[in-house]
Amino acid sequence: MNSLKTFHELGLNPEIVQALDALGFETPTPIQEQAIPFLLETNTDLVALAQTGTGKTAAFGLPLLQKLDPFAMELQALVLSPTRELCVQISNDLKAFAKHLPSAKIVSVYGGAPIGGQISQLRKFPQIIVATPGRLMDLMDRGAVDLSELKYVVLDEADQMLNMGFAEDMEKILAHTPKEKNTALFSATMPNEIRRIANQYLSGAHEITVGKKNASQSNITHQYALVDRSNKYTALRRVLDTIPDFYGIVFCRTKIETQELADKIMRDGYNADALHGDLSQQYRDRVMDRFREKTLSVLLATDVAARGIDVDSLTHVIHYSLPTDVESYTHRSGRTARAGKTGISLSIITPSDKKRIPEIEKQANIKMERYMLPTSTDMLKVRMASFTDQILAAEPGTFERHDGLLEIAQRLEHLSKEELMDRLFGLESEQFLRDEREQADLNLIEYGKVRDKNLVRLFINLGLKDGLNAGNLVKMIADYTQLPIKSVPDIAVKGVYTFFRVPKAESDVIVKMFTETPAYFGDRQVRIEVADPNDSQNSGGGRGGDRGGRGGYGGGNRSGGGGYGGGGYGGGGGNRGGGYGGGGGRDRDRGGRDGGGRDGGRGGYGGGGGQKSSFGGESRDRRSGGNSSAGRRGPSRFE
Ligand code: AMP
Repeated sequence: MNSLKTFHELGLNPEIVQALDALGFETPTPIQEQAIPFLLETNTDLVALAQTGTGKTAAFGLPLLQKLDPFAMELQALVLSPTRELCVQISNDLKAFAKHLPSAKIVSVYGGAPIGGQISQLRKFPQIIVATPGRLMDLMDRGAVDLSELKYVVLDEADQMLNMGFAEDMEKILAHTPKEKNTALFSATMPNEIRRIANQYLSGAHEITVGKKNASQSNITHQYALVDRSNKYTALRRVLDTIPDFYGIVFCRTKIETQELADKIMRDGYNADALHGDLSQQYRDRVMDRFREKTLSVLLATDVAARGIDVDSLTHVIHYSLPTDVESYTHRSGRTARAGKTGISLSIITPSDKKRIPEIEKQANIKMERYMLPTSTDMLKVRMASFTDQILAAEPGTFERHDGLLEIAQRLEHLSKEELMDRLFGLESEQFLRDEREQADLNLIEYGKVRDKNLVRLFINLGLKDGLNAGNLVKMIADYTQLPIKSVPDIAVKGVYTFFRVPKAESDVIVKMFTETPAYFGDRQVRIEVADPNDSQNSGGGRGGDRGGRGGYGGGNRSGGGGYGGGGYGGGGGNRGGGYGGGGGRDRDRGGRDGGGRDGGRGGYGGGGGQKSSFGGESRDRRSGGNSSAGRRGPSRFE
């Protein structure tokens, strides 16, 4: 599969090969190997099916540069590209390839930038113009560009130009070009409309296809994480938190989703920003500059906005929402593992997306492996490491030792370094333990038909805090009921409660037995009930009432009543409850289901903000979100 040919052997001049050497291009990619000699040696039109990342810019760009007449004053070549980003990228690539061709002049014109500067560039007799369709039309209308002497036209990412509504502009532009010219059309896909344009504007075109499994594509590891819809955001954060050198694009499906996610994640202190069509060109440029410079490591983007982004060293592409079609999946994934590097394409999916995995695997000819999200132990390690970093990064000598503070500082003096460390880390881990989201194991158990209608979702009043896990839950139920249960699907072990599913017949037995005869897990009485007795829309109000009244549950745990008590369990203010705002995240869940408990929980919030905010916006956000909306949204937790 690997080419043994060199660029020199493909027929390129030494000046060009020298520039390629400097760029680190050693061997031609498959499309280059096919297209370069063809374009150099013939005057035949070309249709090339190739994805971004295959090296197609050099495939059409190098022959163009070699065939140019360096002494002619008129415009000889036009490259049309769908986006400004791609346009800039192509012209930068061409300039780099032409490093040792001093007379080659390349100009790029695109919307969103002042047109005056572009007009004056065009007056300097460039030989190649790289343009977006809309801006080129504008310049043509103003008489600032003359296409009548063109010898070469390249339509790059033709399918994207159609997707972006440029079909008409593209045809108008082509109608202004001379009949005698060579046209090369590059497209990742070949919809009928492209076929029609190719038939109409190209003649006797030679076709080449670069197979989907080209070198760059096979360097991508495809993975998926399976989580509840409500845990998608936390899952994303876990990925970002545990991959310190993360540098990638998080794809969303809509502009609104992109912006909302960007707002949220920026508020939570991540080095992220959004890129979508509702943002001004100026803003998008700034975002792209920061992303290229790596001052921004997480780019939230829509499919369209991300077209043309050519950044080589992305470690990850994340599909926060799966795209509607498999081609977009491939396109998105191709943003990573470029130029011989490796990369990961990770989809964060929910059970309802699960059925699309085999479809994507089949159509994209890839294998997607399960990615298990970091566990709470992993997250605790990350948290402690970052706390240590904070301590190490803190400026010494900034603590003002004036009278009032000195007195306070003296209160710590009897503690040894070890004792102080022990307490500091203890406090930090307590904070962590209070954050239910950090606790939950987000990975859903895979089950053939998790949403099988015959499965009933059950609630059990035990969770991580009680030491419950999938294994001992199954064992307890099987031991108690003597049912032949080996595993339970769709288990979601939360802090103090858990959901899981069992077949309908078994659920009846389980609920009946646990209701009629009390069972204990440790010293806690086990309560198991159907989570959504009136089907999916059932509210948790009834059950909430009873749980809300059970004040003081949290009191016994290490972090003080308020910590876990929150509202749902009666807001047990406890010794530190108010101060730490105990269990804001938890309260959100409880509030939703428990109805009655909500108000108690609010008490905890107030005090909590200040204390927790030392861990960034996360707690602030979660807290207020949970508090205000959880109660109202309660029923939906049972969907
Ligand atoms: P493209 O498909 O033109 O956007 O190219 C994808 C990436 O691969 C770009 O960053 C190019 O600089 C790089 N590239 C293209 N051809 C080669 C090659 N023959 N060897 C190494 N890198 C290449």
